[in-house]
Amino acid sequence: MPTHLRFRRRSFLGLLFLFSLSTSALYFIYSAPGVVNEYVFMVQARGIQIRENVKNIGAQVLEQVVRGAYSNNGTDYAYDFNVSESDAPPTTYLPEGFTYLPSQVCPERLLSMKGRLEVNMSEVSLEEVERYLLEGEPQMASGGYWKPKDCLPRWKVAILVPFRNRHEHLPILLRHLVPVLKKQRLQFAFYFIEQEGMEPFNRAMLFNVGYKEAMKDLDWDCLVFHDVDHLMENDRNYYGCTDMPRHFAVKLDKYSYMLPYNEFFGGVSGLTVEQFKKINGFPNAFWGWGGEDDDLWNRVRFANYTVSRPQRDEGRYKSIPHHHRGEAQFLGRYSLLRHSKERQKVDGLNNLNYSPLVSRRPLYTNITVNLSRMLAPVADY
Ligand code: UDP
Ligand code: MN
Repeated sequence: MPTHLRFRRRSFLGLLFLFSLSTSALYFIYSAPGVVNEYVFMVQARGIQIRENVKNIGAQVLEQVVRGAYSNNGTDYAYDFNVSESDAPPTTYLPEGFTYLPSQVCPERLLSMKGRLEVNMSEVSLEEVERYLLEGEPQMASGGYWKPKDCLPRWKVAILVPFRNRHEHLPILLRHLVPVLKKQRLQFAFYFIEQEGMEPFNRAMLFNVGYKEAMKDLDWDCLVFHDVDHLMENDRNYYGCTDMPRHFAVKLDKYSYMLPYNEFFGGVSGLTVEQFKKINGFPNAFWGWGGEDDDLWNRVRFANYTVSRPQRDEGRYKSIPHHHRGEAQFLGRYSLLRHSKERQKVDGLNNLNYSPLVSRRPLYTNITVNLSRMLAPVADY
């Protein structure tokens, strides 16, 4: 949950996009009627954005017409033929005919990674996705563990996905992402962490729980923190880790494919286990929508890391449309964010208690957990 609702001057440009066609904008109007200035600003921003969108749609239609006229392939990669040169494989991609060796580390850039991906958001049942993904893959162990056989995986990646009341998104994400991760020759498994109980949703604390549970399974070395509704549009967005914390979801359709603000760290991010431990994980104190991803950014910066991001169009995502009915905003986020540094030492992996219910499904591990404030006590800071 990005705090794209931080009203700081330098975020001005980002806000124009944030309050575009997104339902979050409407949600904000209704949920924070007291903040009059922000409301007025939003209405103005929305007016500007609508004009922007009309322009964008025009440009997109033109692009489709041009593509339609020239495209001659009928593959899955509808955008393989791309007028922009920036999508052409850089020379560092492997030569045609390359074969792996089971004794060698898998390459990071593979020919099978074609670039633009089709995104299928249509609803599908979990059973259907299980059938589809497990076909020809009987060796995939319960819990969806997978690793390549033709080379040694470069990273062991735990994909952590927090959710509540979004069951229908799970199979859509799996159907989309599992084949990509196989193509990327990563060792991986999915952990879906579901919040129970009446407290507001706590995305960050669910990630901490997911991390602790995943590490009981296997010595993962790379953690990907993934919103359930984000679908990558480019399979060269490699889900391995880097020597700096990584922000994968750079260009989102809902923000007109613009980075909303430089410190934006929401949607999909990745840290090595070592990096995650060093920053004391996510904060546990963000109850409701917003702010926890900005706090993570602060933690990363206070630990003297910088953030790396995929280049060009590799960081594009589509998100599954949804509403926010019945979900609480976290209005206290701004005051918490002012004390990120002090809180980092006392709130995170080191003050977390919980009692999970863990079950294995064919394609993922399900962790159900009831969260409350008492489970992550914070001493005064
Ligand atoms: N989420 C969820 N149920 C909720 C709120 C959030 O499952 O009630 C999870 C889900 O993984 C979602 C992520 O938290 O993708 C971010 O929340 P949301 O999609 O509401 O944020 P936004 O779309 O406004 O960025
Ligand atoms: Mn969302």
